[in-house]
Amino acid sequence: MSASRNEIVDFYRGNPQVSVLIVGAGVNGIGTFRDLALQGVDVLMVDKGDFCSGASAGSSHMVHGGIRYLENGEFRLVREAVQERNRLIENAPQYVRPLPTVIPIFKWFSGLLNAPFKFLGLLEKPSERGAVVIKVGLIFYDAFTRAQGTVPNHQFQGRAGTRAEFPHINPAVRFTARYYDGSMHTPERICAELLLDGEAAHQDARALNYVSLENAAGKRVMLKDQVSGETFEVQPKILINAAGPWIDFANARMGLDTGLIGGTKGSHLMLDNPDLRAAIGENEFFFENKDGRIVLLYPFEDRLMVGTSDLPIDNPDEAACTEDEIDYFIEMVQVVFPDIPVRREQIVFKFTGVRPLPASDANTPGQVSRDHSIVEIAPGSALEFPVYNLVGGKWTSFRAFSEEVCDKTLEALGRTRVIDTRRLAIGGGLDYPVTEPAQKAWIAQLAGRSGLEPARIQELFERYGTRAQIVADYIAQGEDRALNFLPGYSRREIEFIARDEKVVHLDDFLLRRSLLAKLGRLSHANVDEISKIIRAALGWTDEQADAEIKRLYAILRKDHGVQL
Ligand SMILES: Cc1cc2nc3c(=O)[nH]c(=O)nc-3n(C[C@H](O)[C@H](O)[C@H](O)COP(=O)(O)OP(=O)(O)OC[C@H]3O[C@@H](n4cnc5c(N)ncnc54)[C@H](O)[C@@H]3O)c2cc1C
Repeated sequence: MSASRNEIVDFYRGNPQVSVLIVGAGVNGIGTFRDLALQGVDVLMVDKGDFCSGASAGSSHMVHGGIRYLENGEFRLVREAVQERNRLIENAPQYVRPLPTVIPIFKWFSGLLNAPFKFLGLLEKPSERGAVVIKVGLIFYDAFTRAQGTVPNHQFQGRAGTRAEFPHINPAVRFTARYYDGSMHTPERICAELLLDGEAAHQDARALNYVSLENAAGKRVMLKDQVSGETFEVQPKILINAAGPWIDFANARMGLDTGLIGGTKGSHLMLDNPDLRAAIGENEFFFENKDGRIVLLYPFEDRLMVGTSDLPIDNPDEAACTEDEIDYFIEMVQVVFPDIPVRREQIVFKFTGVRPLPASDANTPGQVSRDHSIVEIAPGSALEFPVYNLVGGKWTSFRAFSEEVCDKTLEALGRTRVIDTRRLAIGGGLDYPVTEPAQKAWIAQLAGRSGLEPARIQELFERYGTRAQIVADYIAQGEDRALNFLPGYSRREIEFIARDEKVVHLDDFLLRRSLLAKLGRLSHANVDEISKIIRAALGWTDEQADAEIKRLYAILRKDHGVQL
């Protein structure tokens, strides 16, 4: 188990010098943190909220190359993202799986004439695509990925085949194209395991959630522990601003006037609609509507995720899913599955994120580059250290972006890379048994060693990959019991996660270390039961425990439209 947050804060009170301070623990901050730690660099990463609670939690959960960015001429980005998608499927197989993605196509030719104009940047707005343009795009997409062979090539099918496979599909759909990307249901768990890997790699790599950058001057940066309310100071050689959509806000706190970000918000709904869930099978449906906006229907366990929007927003703290967005999503489902009704009562959870896109004067948000860049602010009269701003990027390509940031940092520190992250497993992806017989043998072996039932090990394996091993070892060391209201979980399992994965608030566990909130599985009874276990694990007082439940309900109501 890593050092407690108080121990870490005390450490920096006595030793404020640190080579690198990372502000922001979304996937880009965390990826950079892990990479620097692996290279033996002393690094502190802080986040004003929980780890992976900003844009990195608000994503569409697709690990993808971004086929539509080909039209914007972003070949470098798409090639990189497709390679990174394949690496994530290989390095984090416990959480990232190939995702068959179906594009419903209504026309043969539309978009054909637009494409060259779009490549030249002459088209005002994107528009619906026909079969021919999609076919060309998919040929490029396959070409980028064929050498790795991680996912199959695309296929096309006509009206009859489409109707046979998807009986409820709109009869006006003339073709469907199927290609493969990746799905990740728990970006938050990938982030948690990445940062634990980083801390394990180097004793002087430390990560703190609920610690914000307050201000900076000269060689000093003032940080505030949001839990205790106390401040402490660090003196970094380099500051990496990985605050995503808040980058300009964080810079303003340090007296730097930047206009790097032009964020756009995107919302998603989680639906409990068994008919629609059955209609899409295990496929994501992915298409652009007439004005070029992306629509996705995504299979998410027994639920279905619908998204997303792309609306400019100035202040990321004000992002929320509006009633208009909900109307729009429901309307879009009907475009593809007109005879399956979607009702508002079927929404079990909603969430919104803000894309940290580079400030741009593109005609539509969809045309703003999704590529990433490091914008360096050299030391000057206000600050004695450089600030590297991590602008833009996709979840999928975080490793490549982190590698670039790490290499630049190593060069500035006069050090060299010692470990390559391209083939490095993430958390419970280490020594992951890929085939079914290998998984069975792994489960049987752990059941034998730990004394837990194979069915229980299976559950843990599905939830944590090979990290199930340390969870099972912990469970086996004491008296355990399945939860009354959520029998798939047990008391010692939750206790372990609370202690080992830097849980500070009740919502950290329910919203980010587990999928319970996102899947709409919360009730008064199970919140009460789980809060008692976490309370005992973290030593909360009665008042703290009450405050945690109130805080959870307020977050669920305000940010996720969930009224318990
Ligand atoms: C709606 C939407 C859909 C998307 N879909 C996909 C997709 O399907 N696939 C894909 O690959 N990418 C997708 N993306 C893009 C991807 O999610 C983001 O590019 C990526 O997560 C950005 O990560 P980040 O670490 O830069 O930012 P963030 O995850 O936002 O992290 C920044 C962190 O900085 C912290 N912070 C801010 N200010 C301070 C401060 N003063 N002190 C301390 N901490 C601070 C915040 O709390 C936050 O946690 C999507 C994004 C959105 C919003």
